[in-house]
Amino acid sequence: MYTVNADFVHTFAGNPLDRGQHLRKDEAALQALQNASSSRFLLFHQLKVATQAAGQLAWISHDEVPVAPRQLVFLGLDNGEGRFAASVEEATCVGSIAAFSDCRQAVAALSAAEGGIVSQARAMLDWHQRNPFCAVCGNPSRASRGGQVRQCDRCNKHVFPRTDPVAIMLIQNDTRGDYCLLGKSQGRMAQSNFYSALAGFVDQGESLEEAVRREVMEEAGITVGPVSYHSSQPWPFPSSLMIGCHGIALNQDIVIDTEEMADVAWFDRNQVLSAIAGDNPDLRIPGAGAIAHHLIKAWANA
Ligand SMILES: [Zn+2]
Repeated sequence: MYTVNADFVHTFAGNPLDRGQHLRKDEAALQALQNASSSRFLLFHQLKVATQAAGQLAWISHDEVPVAPRQLVFLGLDNGEGRFAASVEEATCVGSIAAFSDCRQAVAALSAAEGGIVSQARAMLDWHQRNPFCAVCGNPSRASRGGQVRQCDRCNKHVFPRTDPVAIMLIQNDTRGDYCLLGKSQGRMAQSNFYSALAGFVDQGESLEEAVRREVMEEAGITVGPVSYHSSQPWPFPSSLMIGCHGIALNQDIVIDTEEMADVAWFDRNQVLSAIAGDNPDLRIPGAGAIAHHLIKAWANA
């Protein structure tokens, strides 16, 4: 079919930090690292990230971190230096901070490395915020191992952060693949000409291939035969991993799930190529920050 590109680095991937596993069980070493003058901190306010005037991440020193941040997590090591993230109650612009920016918008101005760090930091801080209690006994739990886990001191249960797999798939009409299947959801974009690859959460006890086939059947009434993996993208809103696939349809008659989808349709290669170029008035597709763009492009350029 087309080249499988498992090494593709998507937006929100590319985090270069050593996650410092050897330090996480050593509370004293972690505390010393946190106090070190070489350590740097990335602040978040309401899950918006601290940025400089020109858009880069605004890392600050330990002395500049507001007293008693709401949550502080250890991200990892950059050439041996500590990197931490903290959520704060007030959006105070200390150090090089010029603004607190929405992560989806901020990432456009960041390097792949910085985008990957934002992805890790946002997902970790959000998880702590949403999970203040033990999932087993309901007692308040506390962050441990630099925020890698939450521990309950009543029942001793450790609760680890979750990552939610989402199957996202571009389906072609047959083995020739002159057409691909795109859809638009009900809701905000229902009246627009904005279409994307179909997607849905992987259910419990379900393989990725099964999730691809089930979602396409549910949303479009299309039976999918062969499924192949393309690449994956962390999507920290709040904690998804988008797993990109291609698949080949075994039938072509679309039956739309109108509760979920405003439209699902086949588009030919020329329509899609002009949409990728941004000059198709009838069809818009996601930009290069989204894995859907690259799944669509890989098919269109095959
Ligand atoms: Zn408990």
